[in-house]
Amino acid sequence: MHPHPRDPRPDAVAALDARHVWHPYTQHWNAPAPVEVVRARGATLHTRDGRTLIDAISSWWVTLHGHAEPAIADAIAEQARTLEQVIFAGFTHAPAAGLCAALARVLPTGLTRVFLSDNGSTAVEVALKIALQWWHNRGEPRRLVVALDHAYHGDTFGAMSVGARSVFSAPFDPLLFDVARLPDPSVDGDATLAAFDALLAARGREVAALIVEPLVLGAGGMRMWDEATLRALADRCRAAGVLLIADEVMTGFGRTGALFACDRAGVAPDLICLSKGITGGFLPLGATAATEALFDGFLSDDRARTLFHGHSYTANPLACAAALASLALTESDACAAARARIERAHRRHLDALATHPLVRAPRVCGTIGALDLVDARGAGSYLNPVGRELAAYALEQGVLLRPLGDACYVLPPFCTTDDELAAVYGVVARFLDGARASGA
Ligand SMILES: *Cc1c(COP(=O)(O)O)cnc(C)c1O
Repeated sequence: MHPHPRDPRPDAVAALDARHVWHPYTQHWNAPAPVEVVRARGATLHTRDGRTLIDAISSWWVTLHGHAEPAIADAIAEQARTLEQVIFAGFTHAPAAGLCAALARVLPTGLTRVFLSDNGSTAVEVALKIALQWWHNRGEPRRLVVALDHAYHGDTFGAMSVGARSVFSAPFDPLLFDVARLPDPSVDGDATLAAFDALLAARGREVAALIVEPLVLGAGGMRMWDEATLRALADRCRAAGVLLIADEVMTGFGRTGALFACDRAGVAPDLICLSKGITGGFLPLGATAATEALFDGFLSDDRARTLFHGHSYTANPLACAAALASLALTESDACAAARARIERAHRRHLDALATHPLVRAPRVCGTIGALDLVDARGAGSYLNPVGRELAAYALEQGVLLRPLGDACYVLPPFCTTDDELAAVYGVVARFLDGARASGA
C-alpha cells in the first residue's frame, strides 16, 4: 500500500503525534507511544509496522459487526455523494426520518420520539434535560435524579454528575450537581431495591428520574446485574411517577444478546440513550428516544416550553445512513446467530478459567464476557496496574485488550470468529499463568 500523497510521510506520524496530539484518557508523561493503525477489516487491525491485532474490545465498544463492513461503507459513500449535511431545525431528510422510524419500530414499546445528537454523553445530557424540563413544564419542578453506584454515563458535566464520583471526576466534584445514589445492583439487587424504596418514601415527590445502565455497568467494571432487579426498579418508577432513563449507549444493538438490554427484562423505559454501536462504529451519532407522553409535555403555544437543545451535527445524514445500514445487519438472522455463538464461546472459555486462582467472578451477558483479575494492588480500582500490565502483554501477543483496572473483559465485534476468541482467551490464560508463576 502506497501512502496517499496528502498523508504525512509514514515514518513521520509518530513524531507529529508526539508533538501535537492530546489523546483521551492518556497520561502523556509516561504513556507508551501510540500504535499507528493503517487499516482494519473484520476484527483485525493492521499496524504501520506490519503487525495485526485482534480487536477484542470493538475499539472502545463501538465497532458492532466488524471494521470496514462493506454494507455500511457503501451506504456512507452513497449518502456522501447525495446529501452530506443540512441544518435539522426547520429541515428534514430521508436518512434521519427513516432512522427515527426504524428505531421506534425496534425499541422497547412506547419509545416513539427520537432526538438525534452526536455521542453517548450528549444522548445522556438530552435525556436528563428532557426529564427535568418535562417536570418543569408541568409546573411540578422535581429536580432529584437517582443513579447507581459505579455508574458511568459520559464525560460532559451532566453525564459526569449522574456518574459515579471517581478519579475521573475528582477535579470537578464540587461543580457537579447532587444525585441520590443506590447501591450497586450487581452486588445485591435487594439492597438496591430497599434503598430505592427508602428514598421514594422519604423524598418521592422530589424524584424526577432514575437513570441506569441496564444489566451491565460498563465502565464501572462490567458489573452485571439481573433482569428481575431491573424489572422491580422499573415497577417502582411507574408506581411513583418517576421517569426511568435507560442508558443503553454500550448495551444497545445486540451487545447483551437481545437487541436492547431492556428487552431481556421486558422493561419499557421512558427514555433510552443510544450511541456507540448505533452506526456500526463508523461515525459519531447519539440518539435519545422518548415516549409520546414526554414529547407532549413540550407542546404549547408558550415558546418557553420548547426543548432548546441541539447540536451542529444533529441528524448528520452520513451517520443516519450508516445507522440504517447497521440496523439492517443487526436485525438479520445471521447476526442473531453470531451473537449466540459469541456468548457460547465466552461461556466455554470462562468456564475453563473459572478455577484459576487469580480469576474472580467470571461472568457473561450476551456478547460481553468478563472476569476480575485477583491482584493485591487495589481490588476494584481503575488505577490498579494489573489491567495495564495485561493490556501491554496482550498487545505483544497480537490482541487489543483494555481492562478497566482489575476488570478484564472481552467485548468483540460480532464478526469475531471462534478461533479469534480462542486466541484472545489464550492470551488472558497465559498472562494469568505468568502472573501466578511470578507469585503476583
Ligand atoms: C461510553 C458511554 C457513554 C458516553 O458515550 P461517549 O460517546 O463516549 O460520550 C455513556 N453511557 C454509557 C453507558 C457508556 O458506556
